[in-house]
Amino acid sequence: MRLARTLWTALNTLLFGSSLLFAASYTVQKGETLYQIAKSHDTSVEAIVRANPGLNPQRLHAGDIVQLPSAKTLSSPSSTPASTAPSSPKPSSTKPEWVKIKKGDSLAKISRECGISIENLRKWNSLRSDTLHPGDLLRIQPPAGTVAKTTPPKSKPLTLPPASSTPSAPKLVFVPPVKAQIDSAKNDLRDWEYIVVHHSGTSGGNARIFDAYHKERGMENGMAYHFVIGNGSDSGDGQIEVGQRWIKQIQGGHLASESLNEIAIGICLVGDFSHHQPDPRQTAALIELVQTLRQLQPSPRLKFRLHREINTKPTECPGKLFPAASIHEILD
Ligand SMILES: [Zn+2]
Repeated sequence: MRLARTLWTALNTLLFGSSLLFAASYTVQKGETLYQIAKSHDTSVEAIVRANPGLNPQRLHAGDIVQLPSAKTLSSPSSTPASTAPSSPKPSSTKPEWVKIKKGDSLAKISRECGISIENLRKWNSLRSDTLHPGDLLRIQPPAGTVAKTTPPKSKPLTLPPASSTPSAPKLVFVPPVKAQIDSAKNDLRDWEYIVVHHSGTSGGNARIFDAYHKERGMENGMAYHFVIGNGSDSGDGQIEVGQRWIKQIQGGHLASESLNEIAIGICLVGDFSHHQPDPRQTAALIELVQTLRQLQPSPRLKFRLHREINTKPTECPGKLFPAASIHEILD
């Protein structure tokens, strides 16, 4: 999609055009995502993208060479001077990323218990108020993209192409292995009627984190959604992750009604759209995912709904700043 690519280039120039850090090279293996590479090399997607200007995490191919920012290589004698390296706080891998809010918890209490300033807790969780709700997840480590995320033009109004220019055969913004995972359910599809979009209501997260969280909440099938679209914090920005509920074609757990869960595919965009708009790469991925799912199941035509438009209980999800009108214009 031209729009996504243009935005990507603009963002890339804005974010990553100046400070570069070169270290070890790595050859991408078949089926690997940038997120997996980052995890296995103890770095973040943001850091790799910063070290590879022009690299699109959604267009990674086997055999591609990426530069890995690595502390080890930096301190070796042959490497580039460390003075050019952006200083990025690196969360300790042994510390948990999140705590679950219990009844009676307050920011002050968690700040004391975790040794993190209230200021940082507010910042890492994009908190507008200090009221915590039991069951919510609170981030106790800086999001991986903290450094870069202070600069993206989040407030830039989202401009989407009019419906008439939407290509009928979309170019996929996701990597081939993801398309293969989506297609793997082709011969065993449930009778889906709806696609429902949610926001996570958190500043970060990914399929693995939501899966653990939902299992902890007693959902034996794990992550309640079928798909997650990352925001660059704990997975790539616009990266689509396919959940087990899609692979196994089992009902969702994302709506308050069991009968709706039986027929509604759930897509969660990471972020809190009560406080900011989704990143353009996330909405581009959402549009292409919906179009792909509709191609997979042409009949009945999957109806697109926001969580708040279908839920039997009142909810603001996916947030008042989700660009509902423009997305509906394209997907209705
Ligand atoms: Zn929701």
